[in-house]
Amino acid sequence: MNTRDPAASAVKELTHFIGGKHVAGRDAKSGGRFGDVFNPTLGKLSARAPLASKAEVEAAIADSQAAFPGWGNTSPLTRARVMFRFKELVEKHMDELAVLVSSEHGKVLSDAKGSIQRGLEVVEFACGIPHLLKGEFSDSVSSGIDVYSMRQPLGVCAGITPFNFPAMVPMWMFPMAIACGNTFILKPSEKDPSCPLRLAELMLEAGAPPGVLNVVIGDKESVDTLLHDPRVQAISFVGSTPIARYVFATASLEGKRVQAMGGAKNHMVVMPDADIESAADALMGAAYGSAGERCMAISVAVPVTEKTGNELIEAMSPKLRALKVGSSIDESSEMGPLVTREHRDKVKGYVDIGVQEGAKLVIDGREFRPAKHPDGFFIGGCLFDNVRADMRIYKEEIFGPVLSVVRAKTFEEALALPNEHEYGNGVAVFTRNGDVARNFANKVQCGMVGINVPIPVPLSFHSFGGWKNSMFGDMNQHGPEGVRFYSRVKTITARWREGVNPGASFGMPLMK
Ligand code: NAD
Repeated sequence: MNTRDPAASAVKELTHFIGGKHVAGRDAKSGGRFGDVFNPTLGKLSARAPLASKAEVEAAIADSQAAFPGWGNTSPLTRARVMFRFKELVEKHMDELAVLVSSEHGKVLSDAKGSIQRGLEVVEFACGIPHLLKGEFSDSVSSGIDVYSMRQPLGVCAGITPFNFPAMVPMWMFPMAIACGNTFILKPSEKDPSCPLRLAELMLEAGAPPGVLNVVIGDKESVDTLLHDPRVQAISFVGSTPIARYVFATASLEGKRVQAMGGAKNHMVVMPDADIESAADALMGAAYGSAGERCMAISVAVPVTEKTGNELIEAMSPKLRALKVGSSIDESSEMGPLVTREHRDKVKGYVDIGVQEGAKLVIDGREFRPAKHPDGFFIGGCLFDNVRADMRIYKEEIFGPVLSVVRAKTFEEALALPNEHEYGNGVAVFTRNGDVARNFANKVQCGMVGINVPIPVPLSFHSFGGWKNSMFGDMNQHGPEGVRFYSRVKTITARWREGVNPGASFGMPLMK
């Protein structure tokens, strides 16, 4: 099965990757279902992805279960060495992986590479697993008695990932899980599964034994199988809020460990003392990079005072008119298409709603079509001014290149906006005033805060996660929390006192 050649004009037949092998989905005659994968620049079907049935997912779980005892018993050093080799292989294949991401997701090549790099940083963090898994030791807590604790793997873990980061989000999960000694089933988005499949091939090449990383492509049926199967110990989910809430509730009831990241509406407050040109440049990248299909994209700008609002709109407008929108694999493009026709139409629909709601559409990208790719799933960047907090375009996640400007009179009014919003993923403040920045960071109700940084995605040795409806569960992705999520503590109390019998005791054991 050729999963590698994105330039091939024929429609590719994708497979699952189980037990170190490509496994074809059941054919349609035997009841197999398939999903369509598009090249969003061309607006054409590029691959057919099998959608795994319950039985197919169960076979993958059985394979991961069989691989666990062997892998769980390897030393952390051995596992770290696999991660070192995997890192080198991803670097070697960076261009190929970026093309796979760009041609199925639609983000431009430089952005695709950047996202793979951010995933690689988690692999680099996982290379330190011997140190990260070190336990604690209390010497001589009583005569001849020591207490120590260690972190052990959970078993089979599963990750369910969204379309918008087909490389990075899977790499938030499986390197940490596998380095901790678990086996892992990845259920990537069925919209762009080629890069995750290639990553699984590279893990095998790096020395991860067959079954340590299995990839099943699928939809709700696959997800539900993973959520209910008692052999799966932990579920890591990233996607939209309604599904995150469902995944969290369902898998928690099954007694699994769950972390479920959801949607977002990220605000950027621009104070009157901010450098407007820098703030406008930051907003261009944060709102329109990856066509706004990032959970950390800024979708709301909050200039404080009318003057700041006017200056910001004035600075943004020419920049947005000059934004180069085109083919995702053309190096000169700054923004590519959206992932599917349906998603493009949904985003366009939101712009229609904003106009009906009375927001001022300063720049209208709805009818944009690049001459070379008239059938692609394109929309130009859109900019709304005078958006109010009661409008749907403010309240709901649009997940496209649409920036809403909500003007605030004071800092307090600006701070109340993200604090009262249902989402609490990322947020930023642009100011030159340290007091304002510190006050903002302390009081804002969001999980990740940027001070003069528009997209504050924590580096891999910190942990990633939002608050409120942006995150269900209590352990974040990667960093120290990732280690805690993918391992569990065992505490041992040991007595070694040669020739001494403490005798029978029927009271509560106490250390003396
Ligand atoms: P999605 O929720 O539609 O899909 C995510 C995953 O869930 C996919 O693997 C999909 O196959 C599966 N799924 C879809 N419907 C399901 C159902 N009914 N039952 C069970 N599983 C189902 O999300 P998406 O459109 O792929 O991704 C975009 C969303 O992800 C946005 O809301 C974005 O904000 C969010 N996201 C959040 C973060 C974060 O860290 N907070 C990061 C990236 C993306």
